[in-house]
Amino acid sequence: MGEICWQEECAVMAVSLPSGTGTAAKFIYDGLRMQQHRGQDGSGIVLFSEGEFVLKKEPGLVYEVFSKDWLSSHQSDVGIGHNRYSTQGLNIPENLQPHYTKCRGGEIWIAGNGHVINYQPLRQKLEGEGEDFYSTNDGELMAKIIAKEYDRTGDIVKAIRLLRQTVKGAYSAVMLFQGKLFVFRDPKGFRPLCLAELPNGGLVVASETLAFDIFAIDPESFKEIKAGAILEITECKVTVHEEGHEATSKCIFEFIYFARPDSDIFGLSVALIRRRIGLQLAREFREKEVLEGDKDIIVIAVPDSSTQIALGVWQGLDILYEQGIIRSHTARRTFIESEQRIRDEGVKYKFNPLRLILRGKTVIVVDDSIVRGSTLKKLIAILRRAGVKAVHLLIGSPQIFWSCLMGIDTPTLDELMANLLSFEEEVKHLGVDSLTHISVAKLMKAVGPLTEEEKKVLGGILKPILEAEPGTYYAEMRERLERADSKNYCYACFTGEYSLPVPLPGARLIPEE
Ligand code: AMP
Repeated sequence: MGEICWQEECAVMAVSLPSGTGTAAKFIYDGLRMQQHRGQDGSGIVLFSEGEFVLKKEPGLVYEVFSKDWLSSHQSDVGIGHNRYSTQGLNIPENLQPHYTKCRGGEIWIAGNGHVINYQPLRQKLEGEGEDFYSTNDGELMAKIIAKEYDRTGDIVKAIRLLRQTVKGAYSAVMLFQGKLFVFRDPKGFRPLCLAELPNGGLVVASETLAFDIFAIDPESFKEIKAGAILEITECKVTVHEEGHEATSKCIFEFIYFARPDSDIFGLSVALIRRRIGLQLAREFREKEVLEGDKDIIVIAVPDSSTQIALGVWQGLDILYEQGIIRSHTARRTFIESEQRIRDEGVKYKFNPLRLILRGKTVIVVDDSIVRGSTLKKLIAILRRAGVKAVHLLIGSPQIFWSCLMGIDTPTLDELMANLLSFEEEVKHLGVDSLTHISVAKLMKAVGPLTEEEKKVLGGILKPILEAEPGTYYAEMRERLERADSKNYCYACFTGEYSLPVPLPGARLIPEE
């Protein structure tokens, strides 16, 4: 058996168009391009037309994988797609999605976002029963489990239902079977999944709502697919096989870092939650009283993912917000490089200081998270060389002590900075004058009900929500914010309290209510 495919971040996309439209490939391509930030190692699309499946999946960015010719030469009304982002070494083409298997009813194609924790025992069991695997990816495993059950029962919905009993972990998945599109989410709802109606008919499914913006879809039609839901989409109509329920383990890291701010996930605006995180972080920082007597202070973000958090800090502290760091958009991603030396080099290509803004200033630097600490150590040195007087580092997540086994790429426990250094050592190592992480309690307030202070301080970004006419999309978001429950989140990466049993020594299991 090959190397097991751990931690994977992904985007899924699916479309069902009115019969005869023929342009499913282009819709999926557009949605995948919009979601490129969720997966940059490779992409795949599978289409169904006149009883045949057409597949293309290759390593590379979406626009590199699919040519105009390929998109226009495959006419289809239904299909699914996937972007993959894996850890180094496991990025083999066989692991790209969608995955496929055969059953008595034909081919099953599946693409998912998440991670199956009990992959190994389930695969061993199936191999013992004579199944062969071509990849080490959990999408293939899920396709095989569904196929086996279909062969036994002849009922595809029953087969999807069985996943819940056997597969433990996170999965937000799209599936093609006999020309029908199926969409389903794990019962705890770790990863997002959304649905919307196209203006000219047809339905689209995506990991994040920003994928819908390219089709000029009115937000009134955005819907979050519920945890545990099983939907069938045929000829643009939705059949609900399983209604689903409110998710109980929504990934908080989607809000902190992973999703884009122009998306709504779990029914809430990512930008708004990031502002709220920034506001709470500002409070945390104020309580330390480290700025006594300092003049010439600015707030800057480490672009781009922490910009909205930094804007929240600015609103909370009422200190001038500036652009102090320019980010190169052609530099390679540094996070998954296997060697520290390459990661360090990468940071230098990625970030450059705006000296005129920084020289002589006390700088409040806001970033979303510290994982290994490679990015910030280099970046702070760059800021020092640009002449900053003092650096106060504010981080929009608590210290990360634990690995995510539910679909976010985190290194092993012994690579996480919080496990390697004491807090005082971290401050010294990073070369900052002070370091403030948001506490778990304050972070979870940022996904709880809106407070009166937030309504006053956040102003503009909240206005469309607070003033929305009843029955509209933003009024619905207001209702969701009113009944928001911060208990319905997974934040095991900070606390080690997981909602499913995980193979990590010392991890605790949250008892089911
Ligand atoms: P590090 O340099 O290892 O401390 O990485 C932290 C930076 O990488 C953060 O500021 C994020 O911008 C980014 N980051 C955090 N988590 C991830 C992840 N799972 N995948 C890719 N990038 C990440």
